[in-house]
Amino acid sequence: EDDSTQFLDVPKDKLLGGLLAAGFDEGSCLSRYQSSLYRKAPPHKPSSYLLSRLRKYEALHKRCGPYTEAYNKTLEQLNSGRNNRPTECNYVIWISFSGLGNRILTLASAFLYALLTNRVLLVDRGADMTDLFCEPFPEKSWLLPLDFPLNYQFNSFDQKSPQCYGNMLKNNITNNSTGSLLPYLYLHLVHDYGDHDKLFFCDQDQTLFQTVPWLIMKTDNYFVPSLFLIPSFEQELSNLFPDKQTVFHHLGRYLFHPSNPVWGMITRYYQAYLAKADERVGIQIRVFDTGTGPFQHVFDQVLACAVKEKLLPEVNAQEPIVSPSRNQGSKAILMTSLSSGYFEKLRNMYWEHPTLTGEVIGVFQPSHEEHQQTEKQMHNRKAWAEMYLLSLTDALITSSWSTFGYVAQGLGGLKPWILDKPENRTAPDPPCRRAMSMEPCFHAPPFYDCKAKIGIDTGALVPHVRHCEDMSWGLKLV
Ligand code: GDP
Repeated sequence: EDDSTQFLDVPKDKLLGGLLAAGFDEGSCLSRYQSSLYRKAPPHKPSSYLLSRLRKYEALHKRCGPYTEAYNKTLEQLNSGRNNRPTECNYVIWISFSGLGNRILTLASAFLYALLTNRVLLVDRGADMTDLFCEPFPEKSWLLPLDFPLNYQFNSFDQKSPQCYGNMLKNNITNNSTGSLLPYLYLHLVHDYGDHDKLFFCDQDQTLFQTVPWLIMKTDNYFVPSLFLIPSFEQELSNLFPDKQTVFHHLGRYLFHPSNPVWGMITRYYQAYLAKADERVGIQIRVFDTGTGPFQHVFDQVLACAVKEKLLPEVNAQEPIVSPSRNQGSKAILMTSLSSGYFEKLRNMYWEHPTLTGEVIGVFQPSHEEHQQTEKQMHNRKAWAEMYLLSLTDALITSSWSTFGYVAQGLGGLKPWILDKPENRTAPDPPCRRAMSMEPCFHAPPFYDCKAKIGIDTGALVPHVRHCEDMSWGLKLV
């Protein structure tokens, strides 16, 4: 019998404990059904309430999705420029913006916002959304139709746009009465946003949005932690996620299924280099310093972290060889980085010297793209495949500030060891620390008390929204 089909035929929980809807054409998106073969049985189960809300959302999406009668009607209001009657369906449109890791996090945030506000999520396909991901909802597409009338404006929407909500507030153009007449609003939630834009996170403003059929959102931030601080969302969120650190974990596994070409890259790599090892360790290296690496201090830090946390064995520089009887199993190290330098150093180290434990260490890195690129098909496929491969490891070391790493840890349900940011090109001591939770960090949260209208520390209000390990002003769920 053919080995590969045997591998795929293992009966496992195909629908991830009811997280995924049945009724898709399996061949069109193999990852949806095969992903469970590559993951350990997940210790985190989605709540039954989340499952029922997802099914309810799917029904809404089917009723309101592209070119349905309800969609066409809501579009008429947009075309007429007026908002004169309540619409059956309301929408949130996510604009494709920023690096792939950022986009995955913002799309999950926008979907949660849609769930909370009974809106339908539609996705601007940008350059590569269709190439990278399968459709997550049954029957109706999540892609915004190409003939949507505002499509051509998405790139030019910014903080100063006349339709930008924050800008309107700033210029006193909107209040509760005029705001309710608008057919659409642009929400600027990009890291450079201003105090008026940040009022998005206030209940009063959320109330105003209820009468606006189209909300168009541009963001590069995982804004979920601050949704937990909006009083009107609080109860629903705690019903959806009794375990608060699993928000991205569940939403990510629900939404993001690699397309067949990307799934091919993931599974071929996994089977060739990772499957046979006793244990897999992921190391994600993202250097935000200027200048071209690789840097010795970064390599030293990675190694110090891995050895200190017993993720990797030390090498024996004295003995040229250790006897095979001391064999303690094998580890596959999956490295990802734009540069190949760290990988080569680590691989050479374990080739030139035996390990103290006798473990056999294989070091692998799928690509070294050298520079971040945008709108290049194979580049983004590789980035997505690598984030996913990292999520299939048993233990993970990630770099500070990187959404690439957040995606991997969240999908994998892993609490990573985060490499602290080096200062003045020296490795910090300790080199890394364990994350409090598997959740991503919101890098640009508001620090505002909507009721008292004063600045406050939003990381000190409730026990489950805290400042991040890797960015002191960021917020994350724990
Ligand atoms: P962030 O900048 O680390 O928060 O992550 P993003 O994914 O948003 O943006 C970084 C982009 O740079 C990725 O989308 C890739 O295009 C590229 N990139 C960064 N690190 C890697 C890597 O390790 N492997 C690959 N293939 N691409 C990377």
